[in-house]
Amino acid sequence: LSDRLTSTFKNLRTKGRLSEADIDATVREIRRALLDADVAVPVVRSFTGAVRERALSAEVSAALNPAQQIVKIVNEELVAILGGDTRTLNMAKNPPTVILLAGLQGAGKTTLAGKLALHLKSQGHTPLLVAADLQRPNAVTQLQVVGERAGVPVFAPHPGNQGSDDVLPFGADPVGVARAGLETAHQRQHDVLIVDTAGRLGVDADLMQQASDIRDAVSPDEILFVIDAMIGQDAVTTAQAFADGVGFTGVVLSKLDGDARGGAALSVASVTGRPIMYASTGEKLTDFEVFHPDRMASRILDMGDVLTLIEQAEKNFDAEQTEKMAGKLAAGEDFTLEDFLEQMNQLKKMGSMKKMFGMLPGMGQMREALDNFDERDVDRIEAIIRSMTPAERRNPKIINGSRRSRIAAGSGTTPTDINQLLQRFEGAQKMMKQMAKGGGMPGMPPGMG
Ligand code: GDP
Ligand code: MG
Repeated sequence: LSDRLTSTFKNLRTKGRLSEADIDATVREIRRALLDADVAVPVVRSFTGAVRERALSAEVSAALNPAQQIVKIVNEELVAILGGDTRTLNMAKNPPTVILLAGLQGAGKTTLAGKLALHLKSQGHTPLLVAADLQRPNAVTQLQVVGERAGVPVFAPHPGNQGSDDVLPFGADPVGVARAGLETAHQRQHDVLIVDTAGRLGVDADLMQQASDIRDAVSPDEILFVIDAMIGQDAVTTAQAFADGVGFTGVVLSKLDGDARGGAALSVASVTGRPIMYASTGEKLTDFEVFHPDRMASRILDMGDVLTLIEQAEKNFDAEQTEKMAGKLAAGEDFTLEDFLEQMNQLKKMGSMKKMFGMLPGMGQMREALDNFDERDVDRIEAIIRSMTPAERRNPKIINGSRRSRIAAGSGTTPTDINQLLQRFEGAQKMMKQMAKGGGMPGMPPGMG
């Protein structure tokens, strides 16, 4: 998927404004890319339709940079389908909150049960796990192991221990186990009950019946449908079968640590309209995250495409200017207040890209730097420098108390502002000197953050 989108966006970048033909060509590429990622066909159709419509509207034709606008539109549409803002668990007014897990065998339900239990425990909840998968004796043992690791009790029937009060014989039916588990949670005041259920390799009527019988016995507050992110085109039929057979309130994507590109996420969310709430990202108990639609959208868009945007930002940071500065410094000339002002203006240009950076993965640092940078700073700095005499600009060391007051009055600032600016400038100057010595030019101008 990533390669495709990368080349699509690369094509866009070399062009100026977008024509309808451009947009159609792009939309075709996006369609192909999504199909490659195993997003279901109807989902791809509605998705590309929405992107095309938005791209054709004034939004893009008025934009400075069409490629960025398309990235933004694709990203926003992805986030919208993936569930917009992250939803939290629906907690019962009268505990325990009952969470039922459903999904095919091997989807990752039992593993998730432990992860979710640990997650809730760390939030101060007191979960109880219930082993209502009696398909194989191993399933019960597996949940017990997981529970032990998470430090969360497990309610389970046990083949070799039929006497104890909270332990049902192994032959008991899963519905009975679930019901008894709920009673135990009440008695022992667990505020959350997580019910693990059996799965089959494929969807079948017995499985659906059992899951819905358990559902009726425990009246869950949440039914989480666990689905393997690598499932591909089958995601839609499987999700639809569970939606019709048992119903679910949220989705958990498992095995997102593999090379699943998110196709299943898009399909399931789009076809069932249910939000993806959690992601399982490995075999360890801590490989678990609250699902963030925006991050998944970035993952689908992939870093490669996003690099395009960064290149744009670098272009904004006037290359000519940079070269001139490099030459000056290499020739042993000083970095002056005027140079400093010019750099601040470059930063200001980049500041207008801040929103765009907001959606990019791995741009945290750059974003932070820009967040700390106030555009009004530049205007103030400009006013101060303009109020200095040429001699003061060349050699700020001569700025004494009376000069400071004069500059402050002239620029509508305070002497403290002048001191701050001079301090920042000194820092920048030092940095430029070091860089001139090292021979390299900065990727970012000094004085940030
Ligand atoms: P269940 O049949 O739905 O209960 O699925 P399990 O929880 O037993 O998981 C099936 C297999 O997938 C096990 O070997 C798990 O260790 C593995 N598994 C579950 N979740 C993940 C995950 O997020 N990443 C990886 N890599 N493996 C997982
Ligand atoms: Mg299981």
